[in-house]
Amino acid sequence: PKSNQAPERSVESLCPYCGVGCQVTYQVAGGIIVGAEGRDGIANEQRLCVKGRFGFDYGRHRHRLTTPLIRKTGAPKEPLDPANPLTHFREASWDEALDFAAAGLRRQMNSDEPRSEARPTAAAPARRLRDSKLAGLGSAKGSNEEAYLFQKLVRTGFRTNNVDHCTRLCHASSVAALLEGIGSGAVTAPVAEVANAEVIVVIGANPSANHPVAASFIKNAVRKGATLVVIDPRGQALDRFATHSLRFKSGTDVALLNALLHVIVAEGLTDTDFVAARTTGFEQLAEHVMAYAPEVMAPVCGIAAETIRDVARLFAKARSAMILWGMGISQHSHGTDNSRCLIALAMLCGHVGKPGSGLHPLRGQNNVQGASDAGLIPMMLPDYKRVGEDEHRHRFEQAWGVELDPNPGLTVVEMMHAAQAGRLRAMYVMGENPAMSDPDLSHAREALASLDHLVVQDIFLTETAMLADVVLPAGIFAEKTGSFTNTDRHVQMGRQVLDPPGQARQDLWIIQELANRLGLDWHYDGPREVFAEMATLMPSLAGITWDRLEAEGGITTPAGKAILFDDRFPTADGKARLVTASGIAPAESVDADYPFILTTGRVLEHWHTGSMTRRSQVLDQLRPQAEITVNPDDLAGLGVADGGGLRMESRRGAITAAAKADPRLPRGLVFMAFCYAEAAANMLTNPVLDPVAKIPELKVSAVRLHAL
Ligand code: SF4
Repeated sequence: PKSNQAPERSVESLCPYCGVGCQVTYQVAGGIIVGAEGRDGIANEQRLCVKGRFGFDYGRHRHRLTTPLIRKTGAPKEPLDPANPLTHFREASWDEALDFAAAGLRRQMNSDEPRSEARPTAAAPARRLRDSKLAGLGSAKGSNEEAYLFQKLVRTGFRTNNVDHCTRLCHASSVAALLEGIGSGAVTAPVAEVANAEVIVVIGANPSANHPVAASFIKNAVRKGATLVVIDPRGQALDRFATHSLRFKSGTDVALLNALLHVIVAEGLTDTDFVAARTTGFEQLAEHVMAYAPEVMAPVCGIAAETIRDVARLFAKARSAMILWGMGISQHSHGTDNSRCLIALAMLCGHVGKPGSGLHPLRGQNNVQGASDAGLIPMMLPDYKRVGEDEHRHRFEQAWGVELDPNPGLTVVEMMHAAQAGRLRAMYVMGENPAMSDPDLSHAREALASLDHLVVQDIFLTETAMLADVVLPAGIFAEKTGSFTNTDRHVQMGRQVLDPPGQARQDLWIIQELANRLGLDWHYDGPREVFAEMATLMPSLAGITWDRLEAEGGITTPAGKAILFDDRFPTADGKARLVTASGIAPAESVDADYPFILTTGRVLEHWHTGSMTRRSQVLDQLRPQAEITVNPDDLAGLGVADGGGLRMESRRGAITAAAKADPRLPRGLVFMAFCYAEAAANMLTNPVLDPVAKIPELKVSAVRLHAL
């Protein structure tokens, strides 16, 4: 999309895609972005991947929404051509669309819910509000200020904690385990610390595709002498840099990780001083992992016992080591257990709180860390204060002037179940696309279509917006200013580059207009004022002001510290809690009817549900079609040539796509990206949930393949 026009001006902002949070300078000419260059940001040091460098033109795509839309009376809720929304919708003014959106939400509010604005007191404490028929899904692509206002709208306007976002499909299990284990859900050290690590473990992640600039830091560290261990069922580009690449059997994570812990305990490789001074629960953990000897676990996880011993010794004996992980750890019915094991590995060896060491769940979207911090989750208020803890809830009640529900709300997948059961009747979805990202899409789409009222705020007619009653056209990343928190906890300033086209409006304006139509009487004069309110309520933002963000471009939270927990953890006793994990098997395994395991994920050129990158000219040309990636021997067994047609079926649905042979995949394992609407991989995935974090098991679904 590069233009021949000479840039007229440039704007310092951020990449809108992954959690690495690369800083970008956008060049503008003729009212459009004509180029993007990496700036010397803390997380990218002038580097950009292909998405950051070329994926800036999606806002000009012919599918861009520029006028509010209201569903025509009687128009069926079904997939439609995003280029022709007027087959099912009619154009509306903003006033009409917002009034319509608010009226539909108000209809579903429980008439007997307490509406009093009286603040709760000791004599009249907060009481359980009735189950709400409303819910909101916010966005990890929005700014911190948008996330904060969205959850505040749901909590104070809808009067419910039914508010969530894509963290539920991403790192919810990592966050649950980290909060339980070390009292903090964020990373303990930034990606850049790999430069100081003696050993780097990448597990359940494919940074070369999903966090490419982070991968470049890892490769640089290896070139300078670090030892890299990659642990993942699929092969990947980083394997070339690794001394060990453990392609274990999908879903046997706990068996493998407990075997590593077994070696460390049995061979006396623990950092005894660290364990004694900084942790609790060692005796129970040590006893628990005795049942996981490498020789016993080798046939379970498919990794030789001697390799398990080698890796355990390498990790434990290193002076410094980092563990970086992704969805391959978190998207399981045992996702929380997987993360518990990783925390235990780091703690047993003292690999936290010092240079080159730490735990780093690689966050997916550009602001999933910030959206979670801002309270866009159903069980926690901003800064991870549990809704059920009276002291914290009362503080927000005092600040917001309204009684809050003390009960956790519904998570993403639970919302779909509640909608289909008729318990949830209206939703407000901002910048998320559950009709592509949720597991078991037939069910999720039926649930969304069954709602009495669905309000969708987005930039395109996404698969979710196609099912809406009213669609509110929003600004893209480059059309607004806001703060965004990257995977390293670095809060950075995204600056407006362009004005929204046509009638499209910035998300902050839309949220506030809707809030006021629900009686909230908000008068925020832009993101600066919202951030100021957040800073008064969120200790993690102490010392960070809008002026500082504007002047410095980015500040690490909390208190500017890149490496956390050098002497205590933010737990009640200051110590990390070691928690045992007993490998729950994946909900599905192969059988005669479904002999392959499907694992889903992302590809370098496309981001999440593809709504932006598939409308970016260069990125779509680089990776235009859906592919089912299969081991070449499996493909030959099916009688299908590389590039031939395949039909893939699970117990929940079927799709067709081109076959792609990949010798790095072990036999029996199939991979597919979930960004292609015409062959949506999530039609097949399993909605079974991790019992703690309620994250679905997107990484293991039993499927069968047929030649077309
Ligand atoms: Fe953007 Fe992530 Fe690529 Fe950086 S690594 S340019 S943040 S997509």
